[in-house]
Amino acid sequence: MFCWLSRLYRGLSRPTRRTTQLIWGSFSRSLVLSSQRRIPELSSFVARTNTCGELRSSHLGQEVTLCGWIQYRRQNIFLVLRDFHGLVQVIIPQDESAASVKKILCEAPMESVVQVSGTVISRPPGQENPKMPTGEIEIKVKTAKLLNSCKKLPFEIKDFVKKTEALRLRYRYLDLRGVQMQYNLRLRSQMVMKMREYLCNLHGFVDIETPTLFKRTPGGAKEFVIPSREPGKFYSLPQSPQQFKQLLMVGGLDRYFQVARCYRDEGSRPDRQPEFTQIDIEMSFVEQTGIQSLIEGLLQYSWPSDRDPVVVPFPSMTFAEALASYGTDKPDTRFGMKIVDISDMFRNTEVGFLQDALSKPQGTIKAICIPEGEKYLKRKDIESIRKFAADHFNQEVLPIFLKTNNNWNSPVAKFIMEEQGLGLIRLLETQEEDVVLLTAGEHKKACSLLGKLRLECADLLEARGVALRDPALFSFLWVVDFPLFFPKEENPEELETAHHPFTAPHPSDIHHLYTEPQKVRSQHYDLVLNGSEIGGGSIRIHDAELQHYILATVLKEDVKLLSHLLQALDYGAPPHGGIAIGLDRLMCLVTGAPSIRDVIAFPKSFQGHDLMSNAPDSIPPEELKPYHIQVSWPTDSETKKSSLNHPCHPES
Ligand code: ASP
Repeated sequence: MFCWLSRLYRGLSRPTRRTTQLIWGSFSRSLVLSSQRRIPELSSFVARTNTCGELRSSHLGQEVTLCGWIQYRRQNIFLVLRDFHGLVQVIIPQDESAASVKKILCEAPMESVVQVSGTVISRPPGQENPKMPTGEIEIKVKTAKLLNSCKKLPFEIKDFVKKTEALRLRYRYLDLRGVQMQYNLRLRSQMVMKMREYLCNLHGFVDIETPTLFKRTPGGAKEFVIPSREPGKFYSLPQSPQQFKQLLMVGGLDRYFQVARCYRDEGSRPDRQPEFTQIDIEMSFVEQTGIQSLIEGLLQYSWPSDRDPVVVPFPSMTFAEALASYGTDKPDTRFGMKIVDISDMFRNTEVGFLQDALSKPQGTIKAICIPEGEKYLKRKDIESIRKFAADHFNQEVLPIFLKTNNNWNSPVAKFIMEEQGLGLIRLLETQEEDVVLLTAGEHKKACSLLGKLRLECADLLEARGVALRDPALFSFLWVVDFPLFFPKEENPEELETAHHPFTAPHPSDIHHLYTEPQKVRSQHYDLVLNGSEIGGGSIRIHDAELQHYILATVLKEDVKLLSHLLQALDYGAPPHGGIAIGLDRLMCLVTGAPSIRDVIAFPKSFQGHDLMSNAPDSIPPEELKPYHIQVSWPTDSETKKSSLNHPCHPES
């Protein structure tokens, strides 16, 4: 089995920006090779005998050739050479006979690429560097070659040197030389390798590539359009291989997987970018529990062994419960502060706005308790919480300080504390210094607001030193029983699919489909990790008639766009289901990176640009001709408007 990979997983210290700054030494230590297992040969086929990071006292006396970048030079005597594997100290010869070697090594600018040959010797007693895995030895150089000189760099290749993300993206090839990016990309490669091993070798999955040039899929995300040479005809870049993987099941492939590139023209966010990678999976003759067990096994198998092991099975929660207790379909279950429905306590209240809320359909009163809020939340925090609630949810939030004398002169809060104080304390299990945030309104809206405030307050408490979420904890959760359809935001009379239109209805709700489709739950499941959705999938509709009904009658989509799929379902399609795991988000959480761009080699900027090459770029009109398209240039006012809609982020 491949095993320096798992040694990297077990690395003595892993680089995460959230923890300490990593130095090359500790990274290289994590790459120490295991002698009991098969070791990859890191210096085969190339112009070196060893890597910089691998030399130890056991190599003493060996003649070695190393290639790498000049990281430091001191007093024209010592030079530290770096490659992907670590750092090693090189002694620059001082004698006359080696003047040409000295000249090369002393004159080459930092980050120049050199090849050196020499002998591994031990460092003089007292000069060992225990922080460096190669710190017991150094290289007595005999020959040196300058392979390429380096011009003045836009930034130093040291992780601790602060640089803007725009600069990092512009010179991504230099940014990649840093320890953290090296670590992130190597760990990603190893986890994917383990996933392939698990899926293909242990469970008989077939790795199949599906087309990138495809056609528009109705519903779902906005797609990128690619012109073709046929007038007025366009390809689309697939938002996922969904249709193909289902067609592979019709084709009898039985178990498919792909490390699939997906495209969505939706703009970037810290956990999104226009092209991203999924571990895409589909299986025939499977039910929800089968897919869930497969994924739990997959994550357990590929999980870095220096993290706490993945405990399976993952807990599961219904969508309704997630919304009611956490105000979101992706609850962060690493901490409490759950939303509590306190409507019953206020049935006979005399407080006007509470009475008012309860008299409306779906009207509720909800609260969350902020532990030690009185100690940690400042007056301006509470004010900005209330402003947020008013601006974004048009909702009132009432802070209640449990020490009654401290209710900021709010007569309502004081009144509530006097009337319902004991009930609140019992239902919310509050302690003396806690603060209760109370809101009243329609169930979904009140929950969503408190869900946001729960996360906001958790960040505030953590910023003030409260240990709320254990950074080493990975809290997985299945969210199930989603509605099959949601009312459209712009027209609530119409329905749109909650996941995608191929998701099968829940068998116990199928009778509602033809009369009250909004009541139907689906066989869709999401995988959530620490409050981020890292995967989602469903059992699919394999009956052409049902698929046609949902597309045409419920969703009012143009079925002609999907006639190939509908036809395929009529030709003996097996029952099937699948899932896709968002690899970038998963890696972001595993490495503790602040953004998915830190686990992607060449990501796009916030505005979807490649800042290094300047893509997307313009094309001369004559090159557009074969595609029968012409640019309709925006007017000045349109340009201004669009820049207001997309305020500059890292690219400015
Ligand atoms: N194709 C779906 C997605 O990208 C996942 C699935 O249903 O398997 O969200």
